[in-house]
Amino acid sequence: MANFKTHLGVAAVGSGLLATVCLGAGMSSPQEVVTLSVVGTVGGLLPDIDLDHSSPTKLIFTALAIVFAFLAAFNRVASYSIIELWIVWGVAYGAVRYLALGVFSALTVHRGIFHSLVAALFFWFLATSLSYYLFALSALFAWSIGFFLFFGYIVHLLLDELFSVDLLNSRLKSSFGTALKIADFHNARTSLLMTAAALLMFFSTPSAQPFLDWVTNKQTYLNIADRFLPEALWFVL
Ligand SMILES: [Zn+2]
Repeated sequence: MANFKTHLGVAAVGSGLLATVCLGAGMSSPQEVVTLSVVGTVGGLLPDIDLDHSSPTKLIFTALAIVFAFLAAFNRVASYSIIELWIVWGVAYGAVRYLALGVFSALTVHRGIFHSLVAALFFWFLATSLSYYLFALSALFAWSIGFFLFFGYIVHLLLDELFSVDLLNSRLKSSFGTALKIADFHNARTSLLMTAAALLMFFSTPSAQPFLDWVTNKQTYLNIADRFLPEALWFVL
């Protein structure tokens, strides 16, 4: 399997390149492109959250815990004192960072359901819904964010598979086929649960029309093709 550094590097470069294409096509603004690159990079680390005690797992749960702690505290700002808010914040943080992570680690198997296409789709729709409803972003940007997370996720799964090909001995390692799969066929129950979660998330997403309009429009690709190479000399301002 590919290690953390490889995943981080490849996802960052891949998302950066794709985000630049979106900028060139006129689909995203420069500020949005920065966000999209970061989201794509996070997507490239996300599948390994099933790896207990790994850096991405801790990082993701710490970030989640902070968001959750502030959401819990915000609701009580008007009525609670600062010390009470500290306690609410601390309890909410600990619940996600330690309790939820502990339960999650106990329930997941590495290279199980989180290394699958259904999981990648689940995170796409989850990111799109959160961006739209929680962060009040436009439907187009919310769908772009979800797509970049999905893109990074797939890059991760592909890398894991690539690393299970032993090039020197031209044979396949036993881990081949465990990363990029549609669902976890060894575990029907978790596969069904993840499929149900992905469907549920899909139905909660905002209208995909603005995103589809860009992706299915011939003009988008003409713009990309048109702007791909310099018109005459390279690097002339
Ligand atoms: Zn992996």
